[in-house]
Amino acid sequence: MAILSLHRKTKKVKREIPFHRPYITEEEISEVVDSIRSGWITMGPKTIKFEKEFGEYIGSKNAVSMNSCTAGLHLALKAIGLQEGDEVIVPAITFTATAEVVTYFNAKPVLADVDTDTFNIDIADAAKKVTKKTKAIIPVHFAGQPCDMDELIDLAKEYNLFVIEDAAHAIPAFYKNRKIGTMGDITCFSFYATKTLSTGEGGMVTTENDEWAEQMRILRLHGISKDAWKRYTDIGSWYYEVVEAGFKYNMTDIQAAMGLAQLKKVDWMWQMRKKIAGKYTEAFGSIYEVATPHVKTDRESAWHLYVLKLNLEMLKIGRDQFIEEMKSRGVITSVHFIPLYEHPYYRDTFKYNQHEYPSSESISRRIVSLPIYPGMTDEDIEYVIVSVEDIIKKYKR
Ligand SMILES: *Cc1c(COP(=O)(O)O)cnc(C)c1O
Repeated sequence: MAILSLHRKTKKVKREIPFHRPYITEEEISEVVDSIRSGWITMGPKTIKFEKEFGEYIGSKNAVSMNSCTAGLHLALKAIGLQEGDEVIVPAITFTATAEVVTYFNAKPVLADVDTDTFNIDIADAAKKVTKKTKAIIPVHFAGQPCDMDELIDLAKEYNLFVIEDAAHAIPAFYKNRKIGTMGDITCFSFYATKTLSTGEGGMVTTENDEWAEQMRILRLHGISKDAWKRYTDIGSWYYEVVEAGFKYNMTDIQAAMGLAQLKKVDWMWQMRKKIAGKYTEAFGSIYEVATPHVKTDRESAWHLYVLKLNLEMLKIGRDQFIEEMKSRGVITSVHFIPLYEHPYYRDTFKYNQHEYPSSESISRRIVSLPIYPGMTDEDIEYVIVSVEDIIKKYKR
């Protein structure tokens, strides 16, 4: 601690802090090597084991692995029978994947505004966006904080909508003591390089519906019926049938090997992120020029992201310049996310009107994501804090 406070005062040594580094140790390396040495490098025993262990971890009856969360979202929408001309409600502030999968069907992503405090989908606004064409809603557990699931499920019941959870940020996250992954009709997780459990690229879909799970298992591997990969083992045979035009969305055993090792430390990694979030919030809580993330009391965030909201009225600089100032101090930050309606593709194709999303508009100019990952040292965390404090001191009004 003495060293830390000394560091706080002197702070002359510039550090380089990347926005993210996956936490990979010898455990991941030896599992991956094991897969390569075994000669079985694509979907096989490790993928099946990972599905089983992930399903147990989430507490879900079915876990179906994919090569990405985006693939999972796509097949989830296929499973519920999304059709051309249907509408799907998604939050205005999310990654493009949440909405792009809807366009695969020539269906329309309809944007709902987000809550000013949690940045999660605003259920009241979502309710206003429901039409006769609305088939589903895709809530995103932003930064790892669960959405208002009770209200969402009530809304879905009232209008007969499917709930497909985009849980790309939510391993693990809790809503009223229940882990995310069993509440909606289908939940999609991401194992992308920056996510809280990573296999480089990868995803998993959980559902309590056996029929949908089976359908997604078939569709992820060319529409081939029943565990086609087994045909290369001594329990399988050369015979298979194609029952649908499917996709090439399967996970590989190399990815699953990483996943198995990551799953063993997933709760520890969560504790580490919680610790970092706690330190940030303690430090920034008393700075009027910024607002710290607001997590509702009946839920727990996965802390995939730590999103600071700049109180621009009290600063002489905007968010973009804040990011540059952080960068000049060696700290890489990011923005999650540019609202969908601002991107040329969505703006031009669906003619979204930015004035319909006042909260998203206000938030999107103020948010900045700080580094938060288990490999950060106490000195790294302190350096990020000092950098933010330094910029605020320099530019406050
Ligand atoms: C990362 C992310 C995805 C996509 O995950 P992939 O595994 O890269 O396909 C989807 N939604 C959100 C909100 C994300 O952050």
